[in-house]
This record gives sequence, structure tokens and C-alpha cells, in this order.
Amino acid sequence: MNLELSEEQVAVRRLAEEFVTREIAPHVVAWDRAEEVDRSIVKKLGEVGFLGLTIDEEYGGAGGDHLAYCLVTEELGRGDSSVRGIVSVSLGLVAKTIAAWGSEEQKRRWLPGLTSGEYVGCFGLTEPGTGSDAGNLATRAVRDGDHYVINGTKMFITNGTWADVVLLFARSTDAPGHKGVSAFLVPTDTPGLTRRAVHGKLGLRGQATAELVLEDVRVPASAMLAPEGKGFSVAMSALAKGRMSVAAGCVGIARAALEAAVTYAGEREQFGRTIAHHQLVQELLSDIAVDVDAARLLTWRVADLIDRGLPFAVESSKAKLFASEAAVRAANNALQVFGGYGYIDEYPVGKLLRDARVMTLYEGTSQIQKLVIGRALTGVSAF
Ligand code: FAD
Repeated sequence: MNLELSEEQVAVRRLAEEFVTREIAPHVVAWDRAEEVDRSIVKKLGEVGFLGLTIDEEYGGAGGDHLAYCLVTEELGRGDSSVRGIVSVSLGLVAKTIAAWGSEEQKRRWLPGLTSGEYVGCFGLTEPGTGSDAGNLATRAVRDGDHYVINGTKMFITNGTWADVVLLFARSTDAPGHKGVSAFLVPTDTPGLTRRAVHGKLGLRGQATAELVLEDVRVPASAMLAPEGKGFSVAMSALAKGRMSVAAGCVGIARAALEAAVTYAGEREQFGRTIAHHQLVQELLSDIAVDVDAARLLTWRVADLIDRGLPFAVESSKAKLFASEAAVRAANNALQVFGGYGYIDEYPVGKLLRDARVMTLYEGTSQIQKLVIGRALTGVSAF
């Protein structure tokens, strides 16, 4: 692949850098302490086009390729993973999935609002009893005339308390050959749908994570995204691209850790000179730097494959596995460089570590990514 960025890609990266400096950086500590990002950030993200990347202009999108999407995601991840997650879910998992699988009517109904930031989307797959084994859903959608009636509970749903629409996965058929799962676009103001904020998270505290409870939620049959029984394929295709987005966000975390640690090492003095003079501190810094570069190159490879229309799912799992573990390592190494000051929230590295930790868990844990890669290597599914 060509690693040289085009003029457009350089420009969009600069725009994202400026956006983070202006709209995110001044608020990061306050949002983290308040456990809430200011919702006005969604409109601002829409205005600069970051919620419409890779979506056709015809549907309100901003066009652009997946490498540009990775560049923006890295910058947002460097600024605040809570904000990065809003984009990765509302655009990455919801809007892009509607663009890929939706009917013309569904695209026109939802995409302009999602790309402008008027609407927020959330992705409802996980349930209290169903995480990694995502095909084994207990939420049921039962056909009733020209409607479906949905009952079930969804857990850990990013953007859940804010969202206007949930891309919801429910078992709707027992037809053989499928996992019986279908995807639905459910407006969150539909009667019977209630949500409860999940508090006390280790990281991503600014993000609106929720439990969604569906009691006799009636949606028209036209709310189904893709044919009946295709829901598991919809979910897996969304997550294959989503994992690249998580990986790009992780590159941003690792880069923020590197920048903070290098600056601090050049200022803090111990034993009569700055700690940057100590070889073991340089080892910590160089380990972070290698993690940043390796994670970024794996991530860009996925973007390149998608943009060239080639298979990318296994490479996306590799990038997500490596980048998420690298982000945790990088933030932890940076915290070590900061010594005791790394442990209090006046300095940025503790938050980076808390935010990084979940990246090895969601959109498939590190173990699940290894099973995806192992299946590709051996031809044997160990799920
Ligand atoms: P489990 O599946 O119970 O796993 C527990 C442990 O067992 C893990 O270590 C796992 O790796 C291991 N394990 C399980 N099966 C195997 C196996 N076959 N082989 C080896 N090891 C195995 N979900 C959504 O649908 N939408 C969202 O927007 C969303 N956002 C999230 C935001 C946050 C902050 C968090 C914490 C989670 C979010 N999730 C979301 C859910 C997330 O995707 C799940 O937590 C994740 O898939 C793991 O499921 P689980 O927590 O039930 O763990």
C-alpha cells in the first residue's frame, strides 16, 4: 500500500487536530469527572462532517475514504475516547450499516439526521446473558400482522441514553440455516422502550452507556434492516468495520500517552537531570513509540483493504487485538514515566489507561479476536 497521504487526507487530519484542540481538549477533565460529555459536541461533530465520513453526499454524508475516517478517529481518540466512541457507534456501527444494508426509504429516513448530528444512533446487540456468544440472543421479535412485537433487554449500549434510534438485533425466526437473528431500526421513543444509565464505569465515563428494556415494543415490518434472518450477518459486517475504528481510536490513545510522557520526561528532574536522561525511562518511551507505529500500520492496512474492495475482516481483528492491547500497554508505560503524578487526574495518563482498558473488551474481547484469527489460520472454528 502507498503510505503517503493525499492532500485531502492531510487536510482532514488537520481539521480533526484543530477540532480536538478547540472543542474537546479544554473539557476533557471536567467531562470525565462529571461522567457526561456535553451533548452539544454531537452537533459540532456533524457540522465539520465527522459524522458523515465515507457516507454518500446524496444522504447528507461527507464522502471520503476509510483512511480519512481512521485519521479523524485517531485524532478524536487522542483527544477523548468518550467522544471518539460517539462517532464510532453513531456513524461507524449505525449509519454505515444502514448505508450498506438499508432500503432506499431507510437510508433517506435516517442517514441525513445521523450524519448531521441531529440524531444519535446506538447499536443494540449485547444482552445481560449474551456477550461474546452474540448469535445466542434472548430478545425476541414476533410477527403480528404487518408489525413485529419485540421483548428483551440490551446491556452496555454506548450512546444508549441519548440515542434517537437503536439498530437492534432480535431473534425473529427459527428457520434453519440462520441464527434466526434479524436487525431492526427502532426509534427510541417507541412506546415500551425504556433505558437506564449504567454508572460507575472504570473509563469512558463521559459516554452515555445504557441498559435498554423492551416490553411489547411494536415496530412496522418495514423497520427490519436487511432480509429476515440476516441480522447476524449485519451485526458481524458492522463489527468487522467497527473493529478498525476501535483500533484507530487506540492509536490515538497510545499517541496521547507518548506525547504526554515525552513532554514530562523532558521536564521532570531526578538525580540532578531530567528523567529523559535515564536509560530505563527511554526504554518506556521507545516501547510506547513502537506500539503507536505498529498499531497504526495494522489499522491503515484495514482501511486500505476496505477502500480497494478487498476482504478485511481478519485483518480488522488483528488490528483491533494488537491496537487495544498496545493502548493499554502504552498508557500504563506512560503512567510509569509520570511516577506518582500519573496516579491523580490532574495529569492525563491515568484517564488514558482507564479509557484504554475497555478496548480489549468491547466489539469482541481479545480472546474473541484470537478465535477469529485462529479460524482463518486453521479452517477450524473454536467458537
Ligand atoms: P463474556 O462474553 O461473558 O466474556 C467473559 C470472558 O470470557 C471474557 O474474557 C471473554 O473473552 C471470555 N470468553 C467468552 N467466550 C469465550 C470463548 N469462546 N473462548 C475464550 N474466551 C471466551 N455492546 C453492544 O451491543 N453495543 C454497544 O454499544 C456496546 N458498548 C459497550 C460499552 C462498554 C463501556 C462496555 C463495557 C461494553 C459494551 N458493549 C456493547 C458490550 C461488549 O461488546 C461486551 O461486553 C463484550 O462483547 C463481552 O461480552 P460480556 O461482557 O458478556 O463478556
